[in-house]
Amino acid sequence: MTSDPHKRALESVAALRFPELATSATHDAALPARIAEGKAAAVLAGDEMQAALYWQAEMILAIQIGYVEAFRQLKAGEFYAAWCQLERCEIQLELLIKNFAPLEGDEHRLGLIGRMIRRWQELFPYRVFFSPEILKKKIVCSICKGRITPRGNCGHVKGQIYQGESCHHIIEEAEILSISIVENPVQRYSVALFLGPDGTQVDHYNYGNVKFVADRATSAFHEWFSEVGTRTIATKLAENLAAEGPCPCLSGKAFGACCKDAPTITVPHLQISFIGDEPDSTLPKDELILNG
Ligand SMILES: [Zn+2]
Ligand SMILES: [Zn+2]
Repeated sequence: MTSDPHKRALESVAALRFPELATSATHDAALPARIAEGKAAAVLAGDEMQAALYWQAEMILAIQIGYVEAFRQLKAGEFYAAWCQLERCEIQLELLIKNFAPLEGDEHRLGLIGRMIRRWQELFPYRVFFSPEILKKKIVCSICKGRITPRGNCGHVKGQIYQGESCHHIIEEAEILSISIVENPVQRYSVALFLGPDGTQVDHYNYGNVKFVADRATSAFHEWFSEVGTRTIATKLAENLAAEGPCPCLSGKAFGACCKDAPTITVPHLQISFIGDEPDSTLPKDELILNG
């Protein structure tokens, strides 16, 4: 380890490359304490640049660990928790990229993590969200705690780094005016879950697509992509479906009144392709996934 504090700050960022390898500092349990120590020393010395480097290291580490945790939750079938965790990572990644240009070769895997967050989100069945409309009564700056009003503020810029901390606005007093149900909400956390008879939240969603991929992906950094298309199958394969149930072609008609007597049915199909490593081969490679 070098004794030059600026070099040490740079090293703590560099050590977080290749998080998929056991040799990456991402897996070093002592690293968060070393970063915190380095940052405290930089702030004490009044070195903004060095403090910002430690902030970068903190954020990169939080995103890498957070994304690996989301993947663990996906594997374990904790789908709603994984959704919230992916959302947290996405917000941290946006904030980091505002202040830090990712390495060209993506050695921190931030580009990969960003792509994979969006791909996982697309597999989720959530389409309806609650979006609260909030009246912000008192907003303060996180750096100086100065009050922010429509007429002026303290001079700190939201999203910038001061003394190794990012400036954000803290809502100290607010009132919820209304809650609307929207398709593209600002906060994706607020998924509509039903209330069960005992008052606890019931998760009524079908996570078949998420589970299909999570079961086959071998690690958080195993890249894959999905394409939505159609596939034509012999109607014989659907002969155990009830005639009065919905037709698998998703026409909205009953199966008996639609494709039941045709020789083939064209059904929606989600094709998942893995890049690099083979998917877990103990599971069937192909599976018919019906939406709706
Ligand atoms: Zn301020
Ligand atoms: Zn049909």
